[in-house]
Amino acid sequence: MTIHPQRIDLKEAIGAQTGAAFETVQALYRQLHQYPELPFQEHETSARLAEALEALGYEVARGVGGTGVVALLHNGEGPTVMLRGDMDALPIKEDTGLDYASTRTAETESGTVPLMHACGHDLHSSCVVGAAAVMAGLKDQWSGTLMLICQPAEEIFGGARAMLEDGLFERFARPDIILGQHNMPAQAGTVGHRAGSAMAACTNLAVTIHGAGGHGSMPAQTVDPVVIAAHVVTRLQTIVSREVPPEETVVVTVGKLHAGTQANIIPHSAELEINIRSFDDALHRQVVASIERIVRAECEAGRAPTPPEFRVLNETIALHNDATAVTHVRRAHGEHFGETSLYDMPRLNGSEDFPYFGNAEAGGFGGEDIPYVYWFIGATPAERWQTTPGGSVAEKMRHLEMPHSPYYFPGNPVTLRTGIEAMAVGVLAYLG
Ligand code: ZN
Ligand code: ZN
Repeated sequence: MTIHPQRIDLKEAIGAQTGAAFETVQALYRQLHQYPELPFQEHETSARLAEALEALGYEVARGVGGTGVVALLHNGEGPTVMLRGDMDALPIKEDTGLDYASTRTAETESGTVPLMHACGHDLHSSCVVGAAAVMAGLKDQWSGTLMLICQPAEEIFGGARAMLEDGLFERFARPDIILGQHNMPAQAGTVGHRAGSAMAACTNLAVTIHGAGGHGSMPAQTVDPVVIAAHVVTRLQTIVSREVPPEETVVVTVGKLHAGTQANIIPHSAELEINIRSFDDALHRQVVASIERIVRAECEAGRAPTPPEFRVLNETIALHNDATAVTHVRRAHGEHFGETSLYDMPRLNGSEDFPYFGNAEAGGFGGEDIPYVYWFIGATPAERWQTTPGGSVAEKMRHLEMPHSPYYFPGNPVTLRTGIEAMAVGVLAYLG
């Protein structure tokens, strides 16, 4: 059998190609980092990425689902592998102290906001370009179709569906397997995998409770939405404690509760924003339905003159990595990086819109679901990792800044290199 020697050759070749592309990719990464843009406003970011992919010989389409980029490399017979990176940044003031830290701001409905790549999406899309370079350089080592995606608006769970609604699979190619990755504060140079349930479904729901305002001294002539809202908040706690089976993990958080202006005025309405997380899409829908039922019933109980209003601010489905595909990609990563560089990723209560690409029903593309693997690359330099307290990866991560912190910075050279190679190795596990 020649499989084993070929793998060793490929490992060296991937390393050499990554080395050759590294300076350019790192420069691109720093440019993207310095120029963060909000969801669906990734104009400059997507233009740079599209240009870099075009320069590598890919067939590039811009403006897919807003600012999304699709890059294809047809290289003979074989399966189609989709590799996804995201591009959007967050309204956070960067405090990393990096010499290429962002100082940008953006104008939004709520005023001027600072901008920062605090989730490392600049890293992900740079890794896509790096993997694109490796795959272009190794063209004679593989066959099939490589489909690269730079996705907008992950943070608001909008970009994946926007690209799918814009005909991603009909206009370009329907993948056989979908791959993606996210950085995590694990040790730089490591790759974390998890088969099955890996990230939560999430719904952010806005609720308006209508009362009838008036003078604070004459409550009988009003309908007080503050009292109704207070009952809603406490009653919602019974969903997790009384309606959800104890073996399931569900979170219901009322993160915003706003009503009124001063003590002696009973307001007309109260506003709530509720965050719901779970790991099962059917259970998730049930929890959202329970929230609606309870809010309606409390409004009725409090004699609200008009029914409450519900608005889904954003939502995404749970992420379930295909077990067979995880085994396949994990084995390839183990051969490339060494087994000691792999770790078992704990299940995260965080959420992603990546699973829409694989879910035929929720993604609205019909036919069979498409298997996907979403893995994690470590972002904490080795010295810092070794001095961080804790035994397991999960324990240590509790002591480190997480994505969305103004101090979070995943873009060290080891992580960037690992991210590029992890993507290329994952792709080659199917096309090599
Ligand atoms: Zn994020
Ligand atoms: Zn992210």
